Amino acid sequence: MIEQGPIRPPSESKSLLLRLTRNCPWNKCLFCPVYKNSTFSRRSLAEIKGEIDKLSEIVDDIQRISLKLGFEGRITGTVISHIYPNKDYDPIYRHVAHWLYFGEGSVFLQDANSLIMKPEDLAEILNYLRQKVPGIRRITSYARSSTLARRKGDQMFMLRQAGLNRIHIGLESGYDPVLRIMRKGSTAADHIKAGSLVREAGISLSEYVMPGLGGKRWWREHALGTAEVLNRINPDFIRLRSLRVPKTAPLAEKIDTGEIEILDDDDVVREIRLFIENLDGISSTLTSDHIMNLLEEISGILPDDKEKMLSVADRYLDLEEEERIIFKVGRWGGAYRSLDDLRDPVTKGKIEEVVHQWKLETSLQVDQIIKEMADQYI
Ligand code: SF4
Repeated sequence: MIEQGPIRPPSESKSLLLRLTRNCPWNKCLFCPVYKNSTFSRRSLAEIKGEIDKLSEIVDDIQRISLKLGFEGRITGTVISHIYPNKDYDPIYRHVAHWLYFGEGSVFLQDANSLIMKPEDLAEILNYLRQKVPGIRRITSYARSSTLARRKGDQMFMLRQAGLNRIHIGLESGYDPVLRIMRKGSTAADHIKAGSLVREAGISLSEYVMPGLGGKRWWREHALGTAEVLNRINPDFIRLRSLRVPKTAPLAEKIDTGEIEILDDDDVVREIRLFIENLDGISSTLTSDHIMNLLEEISGILPDDKEKMLSVADRYLDLEEEERIIFKVGRWGGAYRSLDDLRDPVTKGKIEEVVHQWKLETSLQVDQIIKEMADQYI
């Protein structure tokens, strides 16, 4: 049996997962439900190495299956089809076979903050992993800025040498009052120090920003402060992941009591526009590749694509209100992926009919229905 944690970044969908620690050592962020009923624990080096040995055996075993099926050790569609439905194999075989077939040699280290391990121990694990499992080309992990900010440059360089290629940080905001109220446990200064250390070590850096986190009170400061912090870091990637609050997140209670007022989709687009407008002097790739983002097509490489990204936000904000409603219903209902989809008259006609019926037949506000549609992705 090999352990796996509950989440990985969307961009790591093809990665092999290796759990180095369990859950989140901080676990206090108000907006985050992921580990709230779980306690953080470390895994011993012996335990992790034992799992690496098992992964290595499974890779060998899948190659033997390929040989038996006449594919000379290559992982083909037929090999995958043999393993997937076969209940004789532990489910981890599917995961490893998927990695061998679809993956690009990436391994993602779970859970929320693998960098909390002693750097020497982590380096030992990374070296062992690359030695035991062939074909690894990239190793990535989540890390907290407050942890990284305590690391030294030579420790980060050692991890880079041991094979750590990319770190994903949940930056969320660069504005201290928002970070404090949301109990992020990291300051803007931590974010800058952590991000700079990662970059200086030659490790690729992906920073997650949470549009909407400042709510109605601080949306402007949140956008400006976050842009300012990222302008100091110049990460390789800036990834947008808009705020959506499940009932299980502590923030839900504060919203219910009115203590915090959240933005609607249109205001979040305005905030994102202001944020991008203020990104300056950096060469990051910005993506909106999270299902919770209304406008997935906001993406590009700074500074060249800045105007293009702003024009996506403008194009949405310039729509008539009824058109924006249709787009949101189409997007959250799964019929639309981009603003160009509004040009399809058949789908648009169907959505218009649905919205018309809602207005006639339900006591709920259309905005409320749209919010519930979006919340289904949480
Ligand atoms: S540090 Fe990350 S995983 Fe931990 S509570 Fe905060 S958002 Fe959730």
